[in-house]
Amino acid sequence: MASKFTVPRGTYDILPKESYKWEYIEQTFKSIVKNYNYQEIVTPIFENAEIFERSVGNTSDIIQKEMYKFQDKKGRVFALRPEGTAPVIRSYIENNLWTDSPLTKLFYIGPMFRYDRPQAGRSRQFSQFGIECIGSNHPYYDAEVISIFYNFLKAIGLKNYQVEINSIGCPNCSENYNEALRTYYKEYINQLCPDCKSRFLKNPKRLLDCKVDTCKKISKNAPLILDYLDEECKKHFEQVQFYLNLLKVPFIINASIVRGLDYYSQTAFEFINNNLGAQNALGGGGRYNGLIKQMGGKDIPAVGFAGGFSRLLLSIENENIKIENTNQSKFFIVNLGDSAIEKTIEILNFLRKNNIKADFDIEKTSLKAQMKLADKLNSTYTIIIGEDEMKNNEFTIRNMLNGSQQSINFDNIKALLEL
Ligand code: AMP
Repeated sequence: MASKFTVPRGTYDILPKESYKWEYIEQTFKSIVKNYNYQEIVTPIFENAEIFERSVGNTSDIIQKEMYKFQDKKGRVFALRPEGTAPVIRSYIENNLWTDSPLTKLFYIGPMFRYDRPQAGRSRQFSQFGIECIGSNHPYYDAEVISIFYNFLKAIGLKNYQVEINSIGCPNCSENYNEALRTYYKEYINQLCPDCKSRFLKNPKRLLDCKVDTCKKISKNAPLILDYLDEECKKHFEQVQFYLNLLKVPFIINASIVRGLDYYSQTAFEFINNNLGAQNALGGGGRYNGLIKQMGGKDIPAVGFAGGFSRLLLSIENENIKIENTNQSKFFIVNLGDSAIEKTIEILNFLRKNNIKADFDIEKTSLKAQMKLADKLNSTYTIIIGEDEMKNNEFTIRNMLNGSQQSINFDNIKALLEL
């Protein structure tokens, strides 16, 4: 016997018993962001690898260790996208989207790929939802972007999370701050993990983000970026907090948020659910004013976030939030005898044309088998059309929730729309 195929390690199937939850998250996200006038953008799943190397940053884990990079038949180097912002900005520049309006608000949903060690809340293919607000440096938009994430989680009904914000300053503040970090970490250099030893020279801020215990302990007393912000960044951060209060988004300041991607400046934020274990960020984002220019476009500021579906689903389960199963059919028609089939198909057609979910089983199975199927499919009503019903020119309808039954004349199928 041939051996069974399995999904690649770190990936998963979304089966029907789960897919309706994904659809719900997607629909809720879309309806919230559309209230803020965000429009959907869809970019390819693979891009020129350089797009990520130039934006996410060569010192980041994503580029150094996690990118699915490959050559096509002509030797061009592509990568499966590890994140959504760089492709959106590539498209924004390529299609001159700034000429449509001064502020461009875009959202995306789709799979991302990172070659990482799979564990709860971390896989190699994962779906993200995200928004990018491009064209303004106004701190209001930092706060609005955060409030959109907040309102989305609220709409889903999640409670166990907190909004954590920080400012990581601009390149001007970073110069002094990086110096301060190097002075601090120099004393501990021999105790740092090999990754942090190389981060020390290339990008010392990244040391703050290290998950290795010894590095984490050392980082506890590291200098805080908030003490090194220049006047402009300080003011920007205060304004973001002002607007967050105005938008009624509760938040805390967490000075250790640095974000794993190179392109952030000033505002950085994360939505943390501490019940999720090691992978506790539902999502995060920040301002990335330098990225568009860095990728060959104009000097245009932007702010955005990305969140992950799977951690959201884990949180929904943890908090016991019920999502309506839209896969369930409202009607199931049990039919017995050849003459019942015609009537059955007629009623099914009528219901489906009226946008009502209905199903049946055309195989000649017994009443018992069909009732069992109706039960399994979790339909709300079962319609029974047997010989007696055909004789009396009516069908029986049973409410599967409370067991009540009634008869409806075949000439009166419109009555089904009232149920
Ligand atoms: P990042 O782009 O790393 O800031 O990630 C944003 C969000 O995407 C995270 O907060 C997670 O919810 C989700 N995410 C990132 N990486 C993974 C992964 N490997 N597996 C599952 N979800 C992920």
